[in-house]
Amino acid sequence: MPNSACEAEVVIVGAGIAGLATAVALHRIGIGAVVLERSDGLRATGAALSLFPNAWLALDALGISHKLNPIYVPLTEGSFTDVQSKRVQEVSLAAENCKGEVSGPRVVHRKALLEALAEELPAGSIRFSSRLTGFETKVDPDSSEPQYTVMLDDGTAINAKVVIGCDGVHSVVARKLGLSSAISSGRWAVRGLAVFAEGHGMAHTVHQFVDAGKRAGCAAMNDKEVYWFLTCKVPENHKDATTDPETIKKQVIEDLARDFPPIYHEVVDHADLTTLSWAPLVFRYPWDMLFGKLADGNVTVAGDAMHPMTPDLGQGGGLALEDAVVLGRHIGFTVAAPGKLDGKKVGQALRGYVRERWWRAAAVITGSYVSGWVQGGGTNWFTRLLRIVFYMFAFKKLVNYASKYDCGELSTRDFISSGV
Ligand SMILES: Cc1cc2nc3c(=O)[nH]c(=O)nc-3n(C[C@H](O)[C@H](O)[C@H](O)COP(=O)(O)OP(=O)(O)OC[C@H]3O[C@@H](n4cnc5c(N)ncnc54)[C@H](O)[C@@H]3O)c2cc1C
Repeated sequence: MPNSACEAEVVIVGAGIAGLATAVALHRIGIGAVVLERSDGLRATGAALSLFPNAWLALDALGISHKLNPIYVPLTEGSFTDVQSKRVQEVSLAAENCKGEVSGPRVVHRKALLEALAEELPAGSIRFSSRLTGFETKVDPDSSEPQYTVMLDDGTAINAKVVIGCDGVHSVVARKLGLSSAISSGRWAVRGLAVFAEGHGMAHTVHQFVDAGKRAGCAAMNDKEVYWFLTCKVPENHKDATTDPETIKKQVIEDLARDFPPIYHEVVDHADLTTLSWAPLVFRYPWDMLFGKLADGNVTVAGDAMHPMTPDLGQGGGLALEDAVVLGRHIGFTVAAPGKLDGKKVGQALRGYVRERWWRAAAVITGSYVSGWVQGGGTNWFTRLLRIVFYMFAFKKLVNYASKYDCGELSTRDFISSGV
């Protein structure tokens, strides 16, 4: 039995990109949320991520983009090097967003993004060291509204009208909804930041290097920092990937990227060891999202909890930001009074959110998988030819498809105050 209970309109599980962005979206429509985070602070594992024009439109809608936009330079050019043949292909990364503005992705510090979101929330909204263990549902006999008792590992409980699982790829909430577990893509990734105290002197270009079963890349974030990554197929015993950063760096330079060009070695050599991490790459089959429930009653999921995907289009975080705006807009339809939701209408709003997100998420999961498969593929003549054709004709189309998307705006204040 819980040893104490408090009340909240909405409980959001997870203070990652999806959870914080959803809390900001709800805050903008006048609804407070409690954000539960199992760690004792904001987790910036992965160091940085690229945000494409669709993500920036979502950040515009959340009122956040102005804090980050001026700090990071858009990357409009990319070069792809086949490590064995040394063939280099140039690809433009500049794309038009739905508003007709042409830009490229910007590589942003994860910590800066999380902090930019968190500082928009009222003090005390995020409860750190609070791990969700499960929740129970009942229907209030007087109002016939669904109600949820959310249980934490310290024995406390929170009663809420709505539960939103933003708890990542191994989401407890997704499991409770009946969604299948995310499955392994058979690949892992290592990521980190390289710091050049005197400046790196690199152009603001995304460099990628492809070798048998491996793909690596680096991109300047500003004049001194370069984000780098390497994805590779790994043997089964790699499940116990080391967490020692010195060993990770050594593995990359001396083994995994041994044949890669000097520019990549130099970047990895400058790694800030505190930023290095290995991650298994997982995804959910789009049809599992169709047959599993993405919402049930007043419970739903967002971000990786809904649509884990391989990072081969750099869109997981972007879609998490889009989810937040769309979810905020639909929940906005159920505001009954300032700060209060009509719990009987929320279920319908969440179904609207799921309908709006399903195709988008399924398409981007599929595109990411295909992109990863072609780019990280083998070295026989067929896969090489496929890659050349892919970079010539398909890569930019896929990037444009994923990034030319406008998730729309949050509900307007007039609409909310009318209490429709
Ligand atoms: C190698 C790699 C590269 C990537 N590159 C990009 C990129 O360039 N661009 C991009 O847009 N995306 C990229 N992504 C994807 C992106 O990182 C994710 O899609 C994004 O972080 C998802 O955010 P989230 O909030 O849904 O999940 P998470 O960031 O995983 O956050 C979930 C949070 O929930 C907390 N949590 C989990 N369980 C519980 C619980 N039971 N109780 C309380 N708290 C809990 C966790 O501690 C965590 O803080 C990449 C991913 C990988 C692996």
